[in-house]
Amino acid sequence: MKKITIAIDGFSSTGKSTLAKQLAKHLEYVYVDTGAMYRAITFFAMQNGYISIDFFDKETLINSLPFIKLHFEYNAALGFAEMYLNDISIENEIRTLEVSSFVSLVAEVSEVRAKLVEQQQEMGKGKGIVMDGRDIGTVVFPDAELKIFMTASPETRAHRRYDELKAKGADVSFEDVFNNVADRDYIDTHRDDSPLRKADDAIEIDNSYLTREEQFNAVLEMVNEVVNS
Ligand code: C5P
Repeated sequence: MKKITIAIDGFSSTGKSTLAKQLAKHLEYVYVDTGAMYRAITFFAMQNGYISIDFFDKETLINSLPFIKLHFEYNAALGFAEMYLNDISIENEIRTLEVSSFVSLVAEVSEVRAKLVEQQQEMGKGKGIVMDGRDIGTVVFPDAELKIFMTASPETRAHRRYDELKAKGADVSFEDVFNNVADRDYIDTHRDDSPLRKADDAIEIDNSYLTREEQFNAVLEMVNEVVNS
């Protein structure tokens, strides 16, 4: 069966990774969570004291980029690939609200984007890939055969992220999570380099009132249409 590239973009907490994982499993495709890569670089910057509240030493981070090695490694128990930074799994560390609060600032840096986009394009060379992020259909794979752009109301998204963090035992308030979602939306859509926007040929899905199953079935139908065309 013909293998294609599936690009999934959209706002924070729209369920991109849930859909991407479902599709990858069903189609036996590789799944790449590009947000994890931006989060990993952010975690590196935090660990080294290059970023904190009211401080960001971009120059030093840019000079350190050659020493940052990122890779994904499949964890059979979890059923997905974990993010590794210089050979250490940082899958849990990158999911905190603290990393979320800095990641969009790091993702604005063109040198960071150039490094990650190159790595992402390399990973998708053989097709049979589902990649989610903010610039996959516009910059990373502008020729992807299927592009999905996901949206949902900010309240719905903040509730999802809040429930997710609470389930992991995080001590966060709904207000903080909501503000983080809104701040990231703003920075991600207003940055100069590769702002988040719907590719002209992307199919928009507002999943505020769709179940995971309904959404998955709808997108699977789209995949089948493209593969059989
Ligand atoms: O998808 P996730 O919420 O983990 O992404 C974290 C952040 O990384 C986003 O808010 C955005 O600032 C950045 N990002 C990006 N381009 C991508 C993926 C993520 O700028 N392709």
